[in-house]
Amino acid sequence: MEKNIDGKQIADEIKSEIAVKVKSLLDKGKTAPHLAAVIVGDDGASQTYVQSIERACREVGYVASVYKFPEKTSEQDLSEVLDFLNNDDEIDGYILQLPLPKHISSERIIDKINPQKDVDCLHPSNMGNLLLGHPRFIPATPYGTMLLLERAGIETEGKNCVVVGRSNIVGKPLAMLLSQKSAGGNATVTVCHSHTQNLQSVCSEADILFVAIGKPEMITAEYVKKGAVVVDIGVHRLPDAESEKGYRICGDVKYDDVLPRCSRITPVPGGVGRLTMTALLLNVMKAYEEKVEEM
Ligand code: NDP
Repeated sequence: MEKNIDGKQIADEIKSEIAVKVKSLLDKGKTAPHLAAVIVGDDGASQTYVQSIERACREVGYVASVYKFPEKTSEQDLSEVLDFLNNDDEIDGYILQLPLPKHISSERIIDKINPQKDVDCLHPSNMGNLLLGHPRFIPATPYGTMLLLERAGIETEGKNCVVVGRSNIVGKPLAMLLSQKSAGGNATVTVCHSHTQNLQSVCSEADILFVAIGKPEMITAEYVKKGAVVVDIGVHRLPDAESEKGYRICGDVKYDDVLPRCSRITPVPGGVGRLTMTALLLNVMKAYEEKVEEM
């Protein structure tokens, strides 16, 4: 069996399914789902991400709107933008690119997001619903990771899963999903972080090892049990004089080192990253369908 889990192929499959759904909505005279993105400041990574959102929306037939504001935008002005997005019936969901400039309180602003439109699952009530096991939305990266496992036929039930990283957007929600009492969950989950003792030994017990540390190629073969599945969520751009582009993309896992030891692995690029955007598109469809149900 091919060891690589092909994120691109799985993402393309799901995007085709979404596109079919959108076409059927349009054929019935309905509107297409509409995603908005709010971006404050000139952060390069955020700009690139928002461009890829626009591209993904176009691919499946969604409408995309981008609201860009200068770095010096006040919290009050941003809050008014959110009021507008919360109340505009034509917008089904929106994302607020983080981090925000330092003079704006992310916590206060996130509280203002209408939970029904919170397709990035930032709002505390959506995170709470996720914890309680009846999520409205699932944060895009953990959702994409779960989709990847499901479509690649990797069972989590009864497995020893180790998640390295406990951020609110990746590690923590992923650990919650894996331990939930439902299909795709039912795993025994250990969460590791920078205070974990003997990280290597904990990781090497995992049947499925999830890595979201933000440290390029830190996880080597010594961290991996023979035959384990390795899911690399990290993504980094490293300078590389030998590459035409002058850089190369890698994950938190040292791929070439780990490949001979594991049974399956998600490559970077071409693994989990591909599914993140797809998961966001699914959240937008969910927001759209909930809105239609209420009308
Ligand atoms: P954060 O920096 O928010 O979190 C990193 C986590 O790793 C923290 O919990 C931290 O522990 C832990 N950690 C850091 N160093 C160590 C160490 N030496 N040993 C054990 N644990 C450690 O990162 P994110 O969760 O936002 O992102 C993680 C990775 O995933 C990054 O590479 C990022 O680029 C990538 N990413 C990829 C996405 C995709 O679509 N593919 C989307 C989002 C992120 P502590 O809590 O103690 O500080």
